[in-house]
Amino acid sequence: MAQNTVDQRIGIFGGTFNPLHTGHINAIATVRNRLGLDTIVVVPAARNPKKLPVEGPTNEQRLEMLRIGLADMDFVQIDDLELKRGGPSYSIDTLEEYAKRVKADDLYFIIGLDQFEIFDTWKDYERILQIANLVVCSRPGHQLPFSADELPEGVKKHVAAFDRSYVQLESGRGIDFVRLQDVDVSASEVRKRLRSGRSVDRHLTIPVEEYIRGAQLYGPLKDRIGDYEEFTKFCGDKLNARKAINVRGFDLRKIEAPTEFTLIASGTSTRHAQSLAESVVREVKEEYGVLPQSVEGMSEGRWVLVDYGALIVHVFYDYVRQEYRLEDLWKPARVLELPAAPAT
Ligand code: ATP
Repeated sequence: MAQNTVDQRIGIFGGTFNPLHTGHINAIATVRNRLGLDTIVVVPAARNPKKLPVEGPTNEQRLEMLRIGLADMDFVQIDDLELKRGGPSYSIDTLEEYAKRVKADDLYFIIGLDQFEIFDTWKDYERILQIANLVVCSRPGHQLPFSADELPEGVKKHVAAFDRSYVQLESGRGIDFVRLQDVDVSASEVRKRLRSGRSVDRHLTIPVEEYIRGAQLYGPLKDRIGDYEEFTKFCGDKLNARKAINVRGFDLRKIEAPTEFTLIASGTSTRHAQSLAESVVREVKEEYGVLPQSVEGMSEGRWVLVDYGALIVHVFYDYVRQEYRLEDLWKPARVLELPAAPAT
């Protein structure tokens, strides 16, 4: 933890950093300049409680990427307290630690706009709003709030005054909105690009990219999965066993598509869709020893996308599936015969 910080203004920036990318670095540098913070402490999470685990580097390798990628920012410190704590990482636990030595006025918790939109689902978010100020960075694809009405419900009720770049909270704390020079990068996109051999010049700094290549991180999953048609059937079978609705598999190799195989299925509720995705991830890990390279949409459960490289599994809440009609895109593709669903 940062030492002798009592008279310093400290920003805490948490994340999975799998890997550290230019979007993170841009956020750190801009927030530091705009708010004139003395120190920004970067805190890698052991496990994000809102995300399913994905294939990737060890904790030590993620830490090393932070050390390498942030080496020339002398106002940055890296704190591995969440890695040491292990288990799901809750920001409140980390902030409580810092609150012991940093006054609430001087403690700033930095998050991206995607996280702010679901901030009122975080553990003890109201306590966070008492012990720290929030700094929310813009992120491509997400709109900064125009009025207090557009704030997350749980935050709205604590607002004393709103203007477009600052919210005064009744607790005495505030929320700063920082508009970044947008860097449209996400860690999941970086992982995908690395696995498929595409350029990451815009996404990573040179030292981090060199480290990744040297340590051979984010290689393709193909070697470990082997026959993807069999693998697709395996996943389809697991979805059926969990009572997924209308599980269908397609071989997309002869049509224009971003992947070779795809599975589509739905659940009767968003919770069912989430648990279907969870069980595929768990059973694949058990059988193949492989985690997906990314999982999207898990927090909402409307459309969860589990990406195994040459296989993408789409698990919908059934109502949302009807809206998107993805299967129409795959009409020309070969339909895979999946093991029959168990009788209900
Ligand atoms: P993933 O794609 O795996 O979900 P991520 O790119 O969001 O990962 P995290 O390590 O989870 O990376 O993000 C840490 C913090 O950085 C979060 O608060 C997130 O909102 C913020 N952040 C990530 N990328 C950007 C970006 N391009 N611009 C602004 N903020 C970002």
